[in-house]
Amino acid sequence: MNIGFLGLGNMGGPMARNLLKAGHALSVFDLSATAVAAAVEAGATAVASPAELAQRNVEVIISMLPASAHVKAVYLGEDGLLAHVRPGVLLIDCSTIDPISAREVAKAAAEHGNPMLDAPVSGGTGGAEAGTLTFMVGGSAGDFALAQPLLGAMGKNIVHCGDTGNGQVAKVANNMLLGISMIGVAEAMSLGVALGMDAKVLAGVINTSSGRCWSSDTYNPFPGVLENAPASRGYSGGFGSDLMLKDLGLATEAARAVRQPVLLGALAQQLYQGFSLQGHGGLDFSAIIELYRKPE
Ligand code: NAD
Repeated sequence: MNIGFLGLGNMGGPMARNLLKAGHALSVFDLSATAVAAAVEAGATAVASPAELAQRNVEVIISMLPASAHVKAVYLGEDGLLAHVRPGVLLIDCSTIDPISAREVAKAAAEHGNPMLDAPVSGGTGGAEAGTLTFMVGGSAGDFALAQPLLGAMGKNIVHCGDTGNGQVAKVANNMLLGISMIGVAEAMSLGVALGMDAKVLAGVINTSSGRCWSSDTYNPFPGVLENAPASRGYSGGFGSDLMLKDLGLATEAARAVRQPVLLGALAQQLYQGFSLQGHGGLDFSAIIELYRKPE
């Protein structure tokens, strides 16, 4: 298939490589020359702008951009994709953005005659490299069926979440819960250790008891509990605290729009905001446990 791909960063780069490996032809665009060069090295063709990408004979366009503002600029901008793309081309945005912006961009695309899916992912850069991402997809069932084989080249769980925007709804709800549960595990682990318990023994009890969750058994924030977790390598790599802050912001903004209380989500957002202000935004999000521990 002839595909256009925009946004070749930590996630988009390996996702594009997996599409190339699956035998698709890719025209690519990114503001970073280094990111473009890496994709060209892997077999993609570089184009000079979103407009040029739209004018190539592509059947599908996929984007993986940082945030809502970038997605709106790339799709709705004066010289953006919608100003140039042929009607009928399927548009798939995999960026994590707020559901309301996703619906706004999809509405503009539909008015132009382009079906659009929001398809944010979970699984991190490791999942992007391995082609094992989970895609949460919003849009019509017919468009989902068209996109499924393509997304299958980049991920292993492809879930249709309902109408336009619902992929982003699933993503923000999941990540809000993840932020809250990570803080909960950090608090419980720190309390247990402060009261004299060994961290590994405590984690073992939690992980076979009712407190168990992904943040406790797969990504425990306490150093030394899990050898391969970021906590055991100085909180480097993984999922940055600033990215968690961004996702919690999306959740609280979306909640405000529908007047839905998200009490713990808002508190989690504030805790990560303070953590970021202290200069820790680049650390893995499990480093939030530092709020509960004396500096070593
Ligand atoms: P990134 O910053 O590494 O990559 C974004 C890329 O977009 C960069 O290469 C940048 O140059 C490019 N870009 C920015 N504006 C552009 C424009 N106008 N035109 C073309 N290219 C442009 O970010 P990432 O980690 O790849 O994340 C991308 C999206 O995926 C984000 O929405 C993020 O929240 C989401 N996400 C990230 C992870 C993760 O673990 N990194 C996991 C799940 C979801």
